[in-house]
Order: sequence, then C-alpha cells, then structure tokens
Amino acid sequence: MTIRPIVTIGDPVLSAPCKPVTDFGPELQALIRDMKETMYAAPGVGLAANQIGVDLALAVIDLSVGEEPGRFFVIANPRITAAEGEQSEEEACLSVPGVSEEVTRPLRVRVAAQDERGVEREIEGEGLMARALCHEIGHLNGRFYLDELKGLKKNLAYRKARKAAKEE
Ligand SMILES: [Zn+2]
Repeated sequence: MTIRPIVTIGDPVLSAPCKPVTDFGPELQALIRDMKETMYAAPGVGLAANQIGVDLALAVIDLSVGEEPGRFFVIANPRITAAEGEQSEEEACLSVPGVSEEVTRPLRVRVAAQDERGVEREIEGEGLMARALCHEIGHLNGRFYLDELKGLKKNLAYRKARKAAKEE
C-alpha cells in the first residue's frame, strides 16, 4: 500500500469527467488499497481517484475514517438515481486546501454504483453520507464543491481557493 500525493485545484485531471471503470482486476484492487490508505492518512472521509491523478470514475468513502468496521465504501461508476430534501453545511476538500464554504446539498440520495468487484449496488445516504456521496460524485464529473455555489459567491470562493492552493 502506498500513500499517494493528492493533486490540488488547478490540475486539469480534477476538471474533466473521469473515464468509466471497466477492469476490476488486480490493478484496480491495488489502486483501491492506495486510495483507502491515502484517505485515512490525509485524513479525510472521502477520496476520488482523480484526486490522486487517476482518470477513473472511482471513489472511496469512510465517514469513520477507519475507526469503525463496515463503514468503508467503494463506488465505481456511480450515479445519483434519487435525491430529496436539502441541507446546508460547511464543506471542505483535500484538493482545495485552506478553504471551506457552506454549500447546499440534498438531504437524502440514492446512488447506483459498482463495488470493488464490479457488482452493481445501491447505496442510500442521509445527512453527512448524502453530502459525501454528492461531493465524490461531483469530483468524478469534473466538479468541485465550490461549483454548488452561485454567482459572485462562487467566483470569490474560487479566487480564494486558487490563492490558498498556490500558497500551499
Ligand atoms: Zn473533494
């Protein structure tokens, strides 16, 4: 297992939709192990493959950051199939260092995704889990959580984020 460097805002790999995962072989298993290790080391509750520079629609989530068994999720080729309600909370991102913003997300989502073996699964998330699922799926679509902001607020947040990333 290897802790991989996390790429930050400004890197083009974060701003384009990721390629679908088609091969669930040993290379993908090694990548998932590295992503898990990198997420726990950061520490973070979620990590998308493009955050370590890998152009694949793959993300890992663990709200307990490795503290509780059974909380680790792999989502490959995920898509949101249902969303309801609304929540507004402070959000941050390992690829957008030094910045956090309050963003509005659905309160509950249902996500269809493949697991680490390629088996089709359905995951339901509420509260922080819904937020994490939306955040990571956003990455895989080439978006940042800052894209959930609107107008001037979004421009200011991006300016602040680019400045903070340069100072890292
Ligand atoms: Zn993020």
